[in-house]
Amino acid sequence: MSLLNILVAPDPRLKNKALPVEKVDSALSRLIDDMFETMYQAPGIGLAAPQVGVAKKVIVVDTAKKGEEAQPMALINPEILWLSEETSSYEEGCLSVPEHYAEVIRPARVRVRYQDRQGEIREIEADGLLSTVLQHEIDHLSGKLFVDYLSALKRGMILRKLEKAKKQAVRG
Ligand SMILES: [Zn+2]
Repeated sequence: MSLLNILVAPDPRLKNKALPVEKVDSALSRLIDDMFETMYQAPGIGLAAPQVGVAKKVIVVDTAKKGEEAQPMALINPEILWLSEETSSYEEGCLSVPEHYAEVIRPARVRVRYQDRQGEIREIEADGLLSTVLQHEIDHLSGKLFVDYLSALKRGMILRKLEKAKKQAVRG
């Protein structure tokens, strides 16, 4: 396994639409292993393939709290089937938007169809944090970041700060 480089916004590759996975093979399995390792090391509770520069519909999540048993989930070609009208709000962050957090209101519950690592089609219905994380990660597959839910003013401020930090990192 190896650690992958996580792209930081603003980056055009984070705005691209990911392509469906055609074949669940050993190369995909390796990508998923690397994504898990990268996510745990960050640490984060979700990671989408576009965040590591791979424009494929793959996400990994694990919302287990510290000290709890790991609950790794890899979702291939995830597709939202249903969203509840009831909403909930979480303070969201993103490994591609480091050190910035904001409240985002989303549907409280979600039903997702996906393929697992064996290529089997599965469905999951989630609420709470897992629902938010699934929606957040699936957004990445269509080039959407949580900052896109914020006001233009707030989004602009965050992206300018990240851009500035990148330039300083290159110089420093
Ligand atoms: Zn994210």
